[in-house]
Amino acid sequence: VAKSTGRNRASYFTNTMQEQAQAKLKLTTDLRTALKEKQFRVFYQPIVDLLTGKIGKAEALVRWFHPTRGMVSPADFIPLAEETGLIIELGDWIFKEAANFTKYISQKTQQTFQISINKSPFQFHEKLRGEDWIAYLSEIGLHRNQIVVEITEGLLLNSDPSVTKRLLEYRDAGIEVAIDDFGTGYSSLAYLNKFDIDYLKIDQSFTKNIRPGTSELAISEAIIVMAHKLGLRVIAEGVETEAQRDLLIAAGCDFAQGYLYSKPLPSEAFEKLFTDITQ
Ligand code: C2E
Ligand code: MG
Ligand code: MG
Repeated sequence: VAKSTGRNRASYFTNTMQEQAQAKLKLTTDLRTALKEKQFRVFYQPIVDLLTGKIGKAEALVRWFHPTRGMVSPADFIPLAEETGLIIELGDWIFKEAANFTKYISQKTQQTFQISINKSPFQFHEKLRGEDWIAYLSEIGLHRNQIVVEITEGLLLNSDPSVTKRLLEYRDAGIEVAIDDFGTGYSSLAYLNKFDIDYLKIDQSFTKNIRPGTSELAISEAIIVMAHKLGLRVIAEGVETEAQRDLLIAAGCDFAQGYLYSKPLPSEAFEKLFTDITQ
């Protein structure tokens, strides 16, 4: 008998493997419908330059407005989209949406603006080649250096040459590359030299515990020093308090992103925030 407290409680709701499989199948069907019926929205979370306090960048984060479940978190459907291959079509849609928004914002405000887009390892598979992002940028006339592709450390350790080939194509085209969730992966630092990365994003699990004397602060400081020596810039993720921000500034961190500044916003709300602050 399952315990009625803590983690085990979930077993009352998703008991059998068959039920779990059915729930997953339903979610997969819903995902297909969602793509057709355009139930997704791209939200934008500001990334603040710690030197000037200004927003110069944002991260594009997908949201799914399910007709009956309401907003479904990407943590719940991105893995399924990856497993089913739907991530290719969804990812291409997110990219186009974010690229067009970036074009619009830059033209309207005449400010430098750069968008960071997540690209999961699945989206790099040669077999599943989706749209050519570089060609799309030329098509809409957006500068390639206004796009940052966020990848995770694991991708760079992938031995599949087609994956790294694609990444190098981006690099050669002038698209910037950020390592997301830095510090949580394999911590092999050799690839930092090999791939000419532009940004390291310090993972939220470090930022959360940044206080004087914590190892998370020591690790963040070390990441920043190392990154600067290698010519990379650092973005701290999940900055929620002024105390965290101040310690990051003291450590020489370049950019910050987190609820202290803003949650991810719908495009109109982001546009308002961006124009109010920059004008
Ligand atoms: P990520 O790329 O590391 O994105 C950062 C996550 O941290 C976002 O969660 C964001 O809402 C959240 N966050 C930002 N500031 C704070 C803060 O101050 N405190 C806390 N507690 N959280 C904060 P979100 O939007 O739920 O996305 C989760 C993950 O799903 C992303 O992690 C990314 O791996 C994936 N994802 C989201 N959108 C996309 C997408 O368009 N394509 C792909 N391939 N993956 C995506
Ligand atoms: Mg990210
Ligand atoms: Mg992250």
